[in-house]
Amino acid sequence: MSEASDKRESKNFIEQAIDADLTSGRFANVQTRFPPEPNGYLHIGHAKSICLNFGLAKKHGGTCNLRFDDTNPAKEETEYVDSIMEDIRWLGFEWDSLHFASDYFEQLYTWAEKLIESGDAYVCDLSSEETREYRGTLTSPGKNSPFRDRSPAENLDFFRRMRGGEFEDGSKSLRAKIDMTAPNINLRDPVMYRILRATHHRTGDDWCIYPTYDWTHGQSDSIEGITFSICTLEFENHRPLYDWFCEKLGIHHPRQIEFAKLKLSTLMIGKRFMLKLVKEGYVDGWDDPRMPTLSGYRRRGYTPESIRNFCSDVGVAKFNSTIDIIRLESSVREHLNRVAPRRMAVLDPVKLTITNWPDGHVVVNEAVNNPGEPSEGNREIPMSGNLLIEREDFREEAPRKFFRLKKGGAVRLRAGFIVDCHDVVKDDDGNVIEILCTYDPETKSGSDTSGRKVKGTIHWVSADHADEFEVRLYDRLFTCENPAAPEEGKTFLDYLNSESLKVITGYGEPCLREHAVGDRVQFERLGYFVVDKDSEPGGKQVFNRIVTLRDTWGKMEAKGKAD
Ligand code: ATP
Ligand code: MG
Repeated sequence: MSEASDKRESKNFIEQAIDADLTSGRFANVQTRFPPEPNGYLHIGHAKSICLNFGLAKKHGGTCNLRFDDTNPAKEETEYVDSIMEDIRWLGFEWDSLHFASDYFEQLYTWAEKLIESGDAYVCDLSSEETREYRGTLTSPGKNSPFRDRSPAENLDFFRRMRGGEFEDGSKSLRAKIDMTAPNINLRDPVMYRILRATHHRTGDDWCIYPTYDWTHGQSDSIEGITFSICTLEFENHRPLYDWFCEKLGIHHPRQIEFAKLKLSTLMIGKRFMLKLVKEGYVDGWDDPRMPTLSGYRRRGYTPESIRNFCSDVGVAKFNSTIDIIRLESSVREHLNRVAPRRMAVLDPVKLTITNWPDGHVVVNEAVNNPGEPSEGNREIPMSGNLLIEREDFREEAPRKFFRLKKGGAVRLRAGFIVDCHDVVKDDDGNVIEILCTYDPETKSGSDTSGRKVKGTIHWVSADHADEFEVRLYDRLFTCENPAAPEEGKTFLDYLNSESLKVITGYGEPCLREHAVGDRVQFERLGYFVVDKDSEPGGKQVFNRIVTLRDTWGKMEAKGKAD
């Protein structure tokens, strides 16, 4: 077997754990869930978790639920619930069933009473500060709460009155009675319920006590019959508690498996940070094309395939590491190279006039839409004697190896003719404002009978036919590799890239007009672009730059290899 196929077939540690449990008979099937907290928009890290959870279920013929982990009423909103569902579907997944942890509040409450009755939970009157003090540290054991030995009957009474709203916010909590000297701090009588008067996005004011993450998560998994509860590494230390609750309650007991969070260079993907960027106006909303949110990538023009491919290429790891952002950019470039139709547009124009072009003459050129997909056919590009070309494609004087257009030189206009430059017109400051050329009618692309060869080919648009549009050139939002680790005295905001958005005017061939919002194209030799939702219907279009072409074009051109 070759090394490559070996690698493809080797299973990651999660799949190995699943195989082991299926083989041993611990579980009969693979049931997973994706459990976002609806306190922000999904980001590229969540895409990793989505691909993993939905992917594993699909691979094993199992199911994957979407469950909103909505136990923190203060930060959660319906807007986030809606955006999360939209983003998961956009990424190409559909959940088998939809749940909210808040749907289990009553069941969780009943189970809490059960633990109180069995002497495994108690009502504690320590304040949250005192609770923290009593908990001890990594190096020193905690000490028992003075309320730890209340009788089950007393605890039950207090707990019911907590639910009934008799006590102030924060004045009491329900805690699991485990071991205040446990080396794992999560086992030192963790809090299960806190009193909190806050309106919940679904249960309204029904509850004034809310379950904690630890008390909710495993039990919700259990209720849904989840077999593999996949989460990120920071929950590894919570696993003993996850197991403890399931065992004490004697309920279906899923297996929790942890993997490393996806972290990408130059990005800031925590919801906390993203919320700050949005709320304080550093970006234009959660779907700003510079944001690492899925809605941002969608608006930027990334394809769901490219994100899924990226997640699968990166794989899963047991240790934290940082993935180079270049890998995500290459993934979208690679996909769009296969699927995006080619178009010509000029973004930094200079006039090129063909002096021997007959007045009013129009030639219609044919150009292939996608060189990799002949089935996508051709398009027609009208040409007049008044053209626009890219300023950087012309030099009045140029080194021998500059194979674009220079004075006294010739170049092929893509899908058009060979032109010879004989003169330029300059403004008072000596800038070239018009390039004067002649064309050779025998050199029409596709029916060239001249036998002439030129080294370079450049793109162009006919000024008489071009449409003007807005172009948004996006660059990275942060100027450093790791904005999450700022230098002393700085914050991530100090690394915001002031040049992350440039707005310019572009000129495109007429068929660009036919593209609707969300359509992606390659502007030949420039990069991939998508029609933005800010385009006016039937009016001015707006194109976002998705990603540049691989940055080697300049080098290839210098070597005479381009085109
Ligand atoms: P953040 O604060 O960055 O948004 P979170 O973990 O608080 O992250 P949740 O909404 O709780 O976000 O996460 C839902 C699921 O997505 C969880 O299972 C979580 O472990 C997973 N997840 C979150 N961030 C990442 C990441 N960077 N890589 C992989 N999985 C992630
Ligand atoms: Mg969270």
